[in-house]
Amino acid sequence: MLPVIALVGRPNVGKSTLFNRLTNTRDALVADFPGLTRDRKYGTATFELRQFIVVDTGGISGNEQGIDARMAHQSLLAIEEADVVLFLVDARDGLTPTDIGISEHLRKQEKPVHIVVNKVDGLDGDSESADFYTLGMGSLLQIAAAHGRGVSKLIEAVLSPL
Ligand code: GDP
Ligand code: MG
Repeated sequence: MLPVIALVGRPNVGKSTLFNRLTNTRDALVADFPGLTRDRKYGTATFELRQFIVVDTGGISGNEQGIDARMAHQSLLAIEEADVVLFLVDARDGLTPTDIGISEHLRKQEKPVHIVVNKVDGLDGDSESADFYTLGMGSLLQIAAAHGRGVSKLIEAVLSPL
């Protein structure tokens, strides 16, 4: 079984952009991965000869009703089946109450979590990241998923303990 990396966070933080950057096969056949359900979007990725599975999720908005509730439920299931969680946040929006809510859920899981501060393109990154350190969770890495900045370093950090 390949390592499974789940991308979670609010809508619009860049989860799908990172998913597309990491995966070659955008619609991996779930049947190839026993134990994973069909309800989430899986892709395979290869980094320096290591293969892993990436799971994209719809996002957790913090105000779950109707379709949002289903999306949030899927995100929670994705966290459960992952070996490691990438918790994406948005450098431009800064820390939001929903981010704090998601971090509280993640803290209860016994899963390695990396905070991924996305959209640092054109920003210094460090000043935008300061608030996210207050979440007090594992490591924090800065990326610009849309441009690729920081993505190799992120994957190296994520895969090395697995
Ligand atoms: P998701 O809802 O978390 O899957 O977010 P998306 O991947 O759909 O991205 C939401 C928006 O953020 C889109 O308009 C992306 O183009 C934009 N975006 C994603 N990554 C970056 C980035 O690194 N820098 C900037 N400036 N925008 C980004
Ligand atoms: Mg998306």
